[in-house]
Amino acid sequence: MFRSIPALILASLLSGAASANPAWGVEMHDHLASAAGSSANAVAVTLDACGGAYDSDLIDTLIAMRVPATIFITKKWIVRNPVGTAVLLAHPDLFDLEDHGAAHVPAVIGAGRRVYGLAAEPDLAHLEAEVSGGAEIVRTLTGKTPRYFRGATAVYDQQSMQAIRSMGYTIAGFSVNADAGATLPRATIVARLRSVRPADIVIAHMNKPGGATAEAFAAVLPELLSRGYRFVTLSQAQLLPS
Ligand SMILES: [Zn+2]
Repeated sequence: MFRSIPALILASLLSGAASANPAWGVEMHDHLASAAGSSANAVAVTLDACGGAYDSDLIDTLIAMRVPATIFITKKWIVRNPVGTAVLLAHPDLFDLEDHGAAHVPAVIGAGRRVYGLAAEPDLAHLEAEVSGGAEIVRTLTGKTPRYFRGATAVYDQQSMQAIRSMGYTIAGFSVNADAGATLPRATIVARLRSVRPADIVIAHMNKPGGATAEAFAAVLPELLSRGYRFVTLSQAQLLPS
């Protein structure tokens, strides 16, 4: 009976670090274990720049409120959005650029597999090219080698997780999914942001300016700041699987 449990689900149950989604893959969940200049009130905002456009309202809000964020950025987004890229690079004190891949292909391996409609990698070599291609452009732009990787859709399989870690990257999970790919209505994003607690890692998206993400952040960030929360980037923190 025990042996009939698929290995991935068993691994996820044993580690407590991830939930099965879908059956052959895992969505990584993390909290902040600690942050530099340690404060019990540390919270991390992570924004994915997948493909698509530049949500200047969201980034302008963070700049105006001096709220730092970790940006998981793809080569694809950078090529499409030179203006947005320049704004991010002009604020290295606020924005930590990390690896979200070259072409925004999910970090799962298997011809015919799809995650949220996106086709998976056909083999390990393609996965490695996706990870290293994203890292290379971040290194070129910032002079800094990324420490974290987050795959498109944030779903992984056992082989991809091992490969990413063996390339030297920490897989960045999250604990609060604020906008479900910038698809949620404003009220839902507001409610999710209001639920943020110390040590949470929030995921949201900066590639869909037509969505409600920017408006929701503008509404809730002042509340979170007034609660005494201190926003940190992942480069200033250690992660704890949750
Ligand atoms: Zn993405």
